[in-house]
Amino acid sequence: MTQDTFKALVLRQEDGKTVHAIENVAMDALPEGDVLIAVAYSSLNYKDGLAVTGKGKVVRRFPMVPGVDLAGTVEASDSSDYKPGDRVVATGWGIGEGHWGGYAQKARLKAKWLTRLPEGLNPEQAMAIGTAGLTAMLCVMALEGHGVQPGAGPVLVTGAAGGVGSVAVALLAKLGYQVTASTGRAETHDYLRSLGASEIIDRAVLARAPKPLESETWAGAVDTVGSQTLATVLAQMRYGSAVAACGLAGGGDLPTAVFPFILRGVALLGVDSVMCPAPRRQAAWDRLGADLPPDKLAAMTRTVKLIEVPALADAILKGQVRGRVVVDVNG
Ligand code: NDP
Repeated sequence: MTQDTFKALVLRQEDGKTVHAIENVAMDALPEGDVLIAVAYSSLNYKDGLAVTGKGKVVRRFPMVPGVDLAGTVEASDSSDYKPGDRVVATGWGIGEGHWGGYAQKARLKAKWLTRLPEGLNPEQAMAIGTAGLTAMLCVMALEGHGVQPGAGPVLVTGAAGGVGSVAVALLAKLGYQVTASTGRAETHDYLRSLGASEIIDRAVLARAPKPLESETWAGAVDTVGSQTLATVLAQMRYGSAVAACGLAGGGDLPTAVFPFILRGVALLGVDSVMCPAPRRQAAWDRLGADLPPDKLAAMTRTVKLIEVPALADAILKGQVRGRVVVDVNG
């Protein structure tokens, strides 16, 4: 590699299939944007699994550098909002889908896509949080906005041992909520308790066709799974409570009835991190810097090299990745 090139994981289409390779890419191949970033870390999210394996049609053009998030240092800027040396985070906005993303040593992005690294977080911790953690925080903020308070009763997190789920469990527990974690992996029970879950239920209990209404159990819920799991969660929500729905690890359908909404006033709050407006993002990152215990974040995270990403992309789609994976793009 020379100064004129940088290392990146590149996706291409060959005979209708997505193939990947680590390449030395010319600097002048970077897409347009007003801020050049020396990337320190990216992370692995469910959507990255879809992109790298080609199993989900999330990549909108080829060749593509995947990686839906990144943290690093501004190297050059045409924007008055950022100057060389500023430490920044970027998630969503189509990064790693339509615009070259974080699995590279360099990225060129629009200034409006950037968020300043919050106080108290270094770039590796910011990517330990990453898109998944930001989404978990947005879910917590959605529940808070609906008036779901600590002490109101048990709050459920589905897909709890995954990335979004792990951060949600740790955040909710730190904020004083009584957290029940739903997982399909018995070997993660001690891990989930260490993050702050007080109860654990098997995912099979929820992944079934529910009755129109079931026993009122949850004061709030963060759902990363969708499909029958979300339908069952809705049937079990307490009067006036809310579910923050952000994921589809169990499927993109929602086979539910209207009864939880019209008889119990249950609210289904959709959460999106990709196009989330900048002020709400900044607020979420600031909260993450303040409310997510660093020891819990460290306990749910491992750091890997770029070359390890393709195998992990496959594993995350199979629900085999625990917690968060940081990608050291210079490793
Ligand atoms: P992970 O793979 O890390 O977590 C998903 C978890 O869901 C798994 O760990 C597993 O948890 C559970 N799971 C997997 N397959 C199934 C299944 N078939 N049935 C029930 N549960 C299952 O992914 P992420 O945490 O990165 O993402 C979670 C979801 O959130 C994804 O669908 C992703 O697309 C979505 N997402 C949405 C965002 C948004 O902006 N709305 C942003 C980020 C993510 P366990 O083993 O504990 O059961």
